[in-house]
Order: sequence, then structure tokens, then C-alpha cells
Amino acid sequence: MIKGFPKIKRAMLLEPAINSQFSDIDTICVEEKMNGFNVRAIAIDGKIAAITRGGYVCPYSTEKARDLLNIDFFNDHPDLVLHGEMVGPDNPYVPKNIYDIDSLDFSIFDIRHKGSGEPLPVNERRKMAEEYGFTQVRLFGEFTKEEATGKIHAIIKELGKIEHEGVVIKDPNMNIPPIKYTCSQSNCADLRHAFRFYNDVGRDYLFSRVVREGFQAFEWGESEEDLKKRCLQLGESILNPMIEAITDMEKGEKVAEEVQIRVKSLDTLTEFKEYLRRQGIDAMFDEPEKIGHDFLIKIKKLNKSTNDKTLSMFKGELW
Ligand code: ATP
Ligand code: MG
Repeated sequence: MIKGFPKIKRAMLLEPAINSQFSDIDTICVEEKMNGFNVRAIAIDGKIAAITRGGYVCPYSTEKARDLLNIDFFNDHPDLVLHGEMVGPDNPYVPKNIYDIDSLDFSIFDIRHKGSGEPLPVNERRKMAEEYGFTQVRLFGEFTKEEATGKIHAIIKELGKIEHEGVVIKDPNMNIPPIKYTCSQSNCADLRHAFRFYNDVGRDYLFSRVVREGFQAFEWGESEEDLKKRCLQLGESILNPMIEAITDMEKGEKVAEEVQIRVKSLDTLTEFKEYLRRQGIDAMFDEPEKIGHDFLIKIKKLNKSTNDKTLSMFKGELW
């Protein structure tokens, strides 16, 4: 049995959250939170399979995992599951150009036992991932709880400048569940993306991102000037993409999420089309473009609800 990856709760205020969550231990590890999609990798009958969040074997992630991972790991440790984030631009779910990644990479952040879902301690996991040559999330260090808030504040500031997402704070022994904390810039990037598709994205997703800004601004005791900047950035992230989307739709365009995948085999493309269709995702695929030994395929994921809602507004319907 392969367990689902456990939900990671969020710290809204760093200092009290760290003290309360990790009250029984002295030091914590801080790792980078990569922004992509969650994948569990295992081997079935000697072949690697990649499972996404809902428990589906994704044909695209599977092709990538087979390409990126050393199969020896699964032969040597048949009872272990690799957990990581698929990140990069050739990404059908969360495309990001913020990392120095050419296509799609798989960053390991956890190794757990099958059945129980028990995780390996951070250092043991990192050593093992290194032995097999896996890419892994960055470790910023192990800090005492007293110094952690200050250190994380500085890390978040730096990560924010390059639009990286944030950090996950972990018990070195992995007995206590980790917590996450993210940068304002990443928050705003999420909002910019989401408000273009304002009627397709859940309201909780939007609301929670606004609330995070309030708590972060409070904890960091920002100057009036920094606060103004934050307000402006938040407001622009919400309104600009919406206004752009409405303008596009007025011109008769449909708003759609543009993503791309890069495959070695066109069979993977066929399987991936079927996979999206079965998940009820309305997507249009361009003709494959040959790039070296690979095929690049551009995909438009249609956001039907936002299009329909906006068109109805143009016709004068009421909200
Ligand atoms: P869920 O926790 O259900 O995925 P969510 O989409 O709100 O909900 P995120 O805010 O993205 O979750 O945060 C949790 C996710 O962060 C994990 O599921 C994992 O895919 C990802 N992640 C990225 N880097 C790390 C890391 N270093 N350690 C643990 N998880 C990480
Ligand atoms: Mg995520």
C-alpha cells in the first residue's frame, strides 16, 4: 500500500507556530519548498511508476521519472517510496520558469516506508538520495528554535526576490509533522495566475492568500513604505490579471491556461491526452514539435466557468 502524502499545515506567524509545533525538540531543519506538483515514485514489476496527488498514475510524470531516477534504488529498497516535487517549465500542472531547469526535474523531499508511511530522518534521507544521484530540495540548515525565526525571515526575503515559493520546517527525526511558510511574492504570483481564471479557482484558495499577507505584514512589523509596497503588490496581483482577462474575452478570445509538455515517445502523449480527458480537464493539444530527440507539445487548458461567467456579464446578466 502506498499512502497519500500527508497535508502540510501552514504557519501564519512563524515564531509562535515553531514554538508550538516543535515544543518537544531543540533544533529544526529548514528546507526549500519547491513549487511544482507532488509525485510519489515506486517500481511495479521492475518499472518505475509516478503517482500524482489524487492517487493516479500519470503517464507523463512516469516517463519523466523513468528518465530521471536510478532504478537501482527501488531494487535495493523495495519497501521505500520516493516523494518529490516535479518542477520546471515543461509542466502540465504548475509550469514555472523560476528555477534553473531546462524541462522538468524531480526534487526529492521525503523517503517513506510503504504501508506505514513512516518517513526517514532528514539526514538519512538526504544521504540516501545523494547516494543514488537524485536531485533533492535545498537544505538551508539545522537551526535551534531560538534562532530559527530570524534565520527563516532572512531566507524568505532572499527566496522572495527570486520568486521562489518558501520553506518547509521539519523535525530532523521526522517524528513531528512539518510545517510550511511562504514568500509574499509567491503568494502574489499565485493570485495573478488565479484571478485570470477568477470563476474557476476556489474561493478558499484566493481568500487564504490574502489572509497570509495580513499575518506576515504584522509579524514583520513593516515600515510604512514597505507596507505600501505590499498593498500595491497585492492589489495589482488581484486586479490586473482580471482586467486583462475580461479585455481578452471582450475581443472574443477564450481565456485558457497555456502549458507544455516534452516527451520522448508519442505514446506518452496519447496516454496523457486520455489521462486528462478522464479527469474531466478540457484541453486542446497543438501538433507535436520535434526538438532534438524530444517532442514539445503546447496545451491549452480551457477554463470554461470563467469564460461563461464573463460572457454572461457582457450580456447584462446579474451576479
Ligand atoms: P497539499 O498539502 O494537499 O499538497 P497544497 O497544494 O496547499 O496542499 P502546498 O501549499 O503546495 O500544498 O504545500 C505542500 C506541498 O509542498 C507538498 O505536498 C509537496 O508536494 C510540496 N513540497 C515542496 N517542497 C517540499 C519540501 N521540501 N518538503 C515537503 N514538501 C514539499
Ligand atoms: Mg504546491
